[in-house]
Parts: sequence; C-alpha cells; structure tokens
Amino acid sequence: MEVRFYPFGPLQAILYLVVIGKEAIIIDPCVPVELLDLDGLDVKGIICTHAHYDHIIEADNISRKTKSVLLAYTDEIPLMKDSIRNGSARMFLPYSVESPVLPLKDGDILTPRDFMMSDTEPFTIKVIHTPGHTYGSISVLFDFFEKKKNGKHLFTGDTVFADMIGRTDLGGDMNQMKQSIAKIAMLEDDVIIYPGHGEMTTVGAEKRHNQFFTAAFYNDII
Ligand SMILES: [Zn+2]
Repeated sequence: MEVRFYPFGPLQAILYLVVIGKEAIIIDPCVPVELLDLDGLDVKGIICTHAHYDHIIEADNISRKTKSVLLAYTDEIPLMKDSIRNGSARMFLPYSVESPVLPLKDGDILTPRDFMMSDTEPFTIKVIHTPGHTYGSISVLFDFFEKKKNGKHLFTGDTVFADMIGRTDLGGDMNQMKQSIAKIAMLEDDVIIYPGHGEMTTVGAEKRHNQFFTAAFYNDII
C-alpha cells in the first residue's frame, strides 16, 4: 500500500489517497478529482472523518466521477447535508452533500469485500468514534496485518495533529475530546497518524511530545 497526500485550499485540509494495488480509498474528499493522480486507479470508497466543509467540499464531485460510495459516522451525516452546520455558509460558499452517505458506527470493521475490492493486500478498517472536534468525528484505522511493522495507519481528521489537538469550539466538546485522545493514546506506539492538516506523526511521538497526550490531560476519565 501507499498513502498519497493532497493538501488543498486556504486551510490546507488534506485528502489522503490510500492506494492498494490498482484500487484506492479516499479519506476526506476535499480536493478536485482532476488534481488527483488517479492514473489507472479505481477509487472504491470515500470515508469522511467529519463534516466540516473544508474536508468534504468535493464529496459529490468525487463520488459521482469515481462512482464510489461516501461513508461517514452516522450522526455526522446531517451536518454534511446542512450548509450552516458544516460551516460552508459562513464562508459564503454554501455547500451540502447531495449524494447518499452510508452510516458508520463506532467499532465497525470494514474489509476489502465491503468496498468490492480485490483481496491482493488484505486489510481491515476499524472505525473509532473520536468525538470532541465534532460529535460525529471518527478516526479511521487501517490495519495491513500481514506487515509486521508499520502495518497500522490512523487517519484522525481534525481530532489529532502533530503536537496539537483539534479545536473544540466549532461545535465540539472538550470532555469528549479528552476521552477520544485517551482512546488514541491506547493504540500501539508505531501506529502512523495522518492528520487532517499538517505533518504526519505516530502515536508514540505524540505520547512523547504532545502536551495533550498526557495522563494530566485525560486522567479524570481513565
Ligand atoms: Zn474540522
């Protein structure tokens, strides 16, 4: 597998293209499809970490052009379809997702079969509900379990960044954020983190350097 990065727009939200053989899954559809290096790749699914407009602005275009399904946490779907709640109306670019969105729940495990993908490089995707930035934010854990090292890849949206966490004043909640950080801190140190903005990192690096990945921050809930 290979992960390609496409930061885009004034806020530099990142679309990640997870390439598996000749197929791919997109995390956060926020870049015009024409700018993606899809040469011969068949996109099989589009997972939205959360509904803020800078992460979903190309959802319909990419879904239609690649004929692939959109997926998001069940409680986040109404925000995707509401230009006020997804923040786009405030930026004078009212946008609401029209395509159908398949609902995900905490703990869902998806496999290549769920995306009608070939099984050349087996993986699972675990949906981890990580509210705090928005109530329906998820972190998406790819596990390529046949690779012993660096087989796990976590797409955190705006929940975790390198040395930082996401804002909770855009419809989120700090207490929920603390619980979500605790969930992520309990993953293995070598899990690679791909945030919705900025540099990639690992769970271990965040536990060493990120002031929010400390027991002092989430102590009251574990
Ligand atoms: Zn956001």
